[in-house]
Amino acid sequence: MGLHMQVFIALLLGIKRNGHIFLGIILGVLVGIFAPQHLYPKAYQILDLIGQSFINIIQMVVLPLVISAIIIGISNIGDSKQLTKLGSKMLLYYGIIITLAVTIGATVALLLQPGVGAKALIDSNVIASVHDSVASAIEYQKENLVQIFLDVIPKNPFEALAQGKMIPIIIFVSIFAVALTRAGEISHPLVSFFESIFAATMKVTDWIMYLAAPGIFALTATAVGSFGIEVFQSISKFALAVCLALGIQFFIVYPLMLKLFSKVPVGKLFSAVSEAIMVAFGTASSSATLPLTITCCEKRGISNRVCSFVLPLGATLNMDGTALVQTIAVIFLAQMYGIDLTPLLIFEIAFLAIVASSTSAGIPGAGLITIALVLNGIGLTPQQLVIGFSLLFTIERFMDMLRTICNVTSDTIVAAIIADNENELNYELLCGEKQSEKA
Ligand code: ASP
Repeated sequence: MGLHMQVFIALLLGIKRNGHIFLGIILGVLVGIFAPQHLYPKAYQILDLIGQSFINIIQMVVLPLVISAIIIGISNIGDSKQLTKLGSKMLLYYGIIITLAVTIGATVALLLQPGVGAKALIDSNVIASVHDSVASAIEYQKENLVQIFLDVIPKNPFEALAQGKMIPIIIFVSIFAVALTRAGEISHPLVSFFESIFAATMKVTDWIMYLAAPGIFALTATAVGSFGIEVFQSISKFALAVCLALGIQFFIVYPLMLKLFSKVPVGKLFSAVSEAIMVAFGTASSSATLPLTITCCEKRGISNRVCSFVLPLGATLNMDGTALVQTIAVIFLAQMYGIDLTPLLIFEIAFLAIVASSTSAGIPGAGLITIALVLNGIGLTPQQLVIGFSLLFTIERFMDMLRTICNVTSDTIVAAIIADNENELNYELLCGEKQSEKA
């Protein structure tokens, strides 16, 4: 059976196991289509409240989870040789996945040419409604690479914590965790303390998942119900290119990576992480999905040592879906404005998309703000930028839900490959119906 069919069947099995979440998605889509927001604005306020509360409540556990997971992960790895080995493997696999993502994005955009003939017919209402987001994106565009690099080094870790800035937090916690492993026996009580925090956050995640069905229903309904079908027409070819490229990444690249670099059964892995995939779709946030991503992987046999190191870093730094969409979006705008796409410019766009996506937070809409960095390279006038952003914002939520699926799935693919390479994958748990009691 073809690999993509194995993925497809695995997803169906996963959906059957997590029918309540899937039902939430389907009902959300139906409500969004048949009872759109402009007809029932009051009802949508309530749906928005339910959806945002769900996102807030899972985000509540993300910080303690990321901090405790990285500390446990690094201290479990032990000596610096092991840490370098695991860290380099992780960077290598994440690097391959994201390079393939931008290559696929650029190829599909150049073949389908979604921007050619796309009309920039955006009325002033649309521009006004996305004004704030456009303003922050343009603000971001003014930052250069040096500034972005400087911003990720935390001057004050507590400030970064209070502001929930993930990359500076991860840098601080990783350095702190390596120092703890060097400190010897005296650090054991602190590591046990973080082990307790990790166990408690996993428990809270289990409880939160009882709210997944109504939460995902409300989020999906709000996303679909606020969608303007008229604007979609001028950007439908762009949406098609994104869906096609993300589909290739999901159904072809991921299974091939598993086949080439490990002996992990493709169907079993996709089925194991299907719950996280559905939540990623609903929340459009890889960071909010992280607790569930870890739970799914640990319950299905990927060791805690690999999960707690690879998944939190992946959820923050590895955004292959985002890089892919950014590449297509920028090529789309370049085509729309008749900018000459030389091979060098395409390479620059792909490279900047990798950098910009890695600096995106794992939250809804982050990728469309950081895209400004990639747009820097193609030289649009401020007016063209505003219109371009306004166009992209019209279908942003939907694109975000799809790219977040890839962002989350690729983390689990890399975790599974590394666990397999390191003999830290329990195949009995992955293949059987038995579930780990621990996670
Ligand atoms: N929403 C994405 C994520 O959380 C980031 C993005 O906006 O592309 O993975």
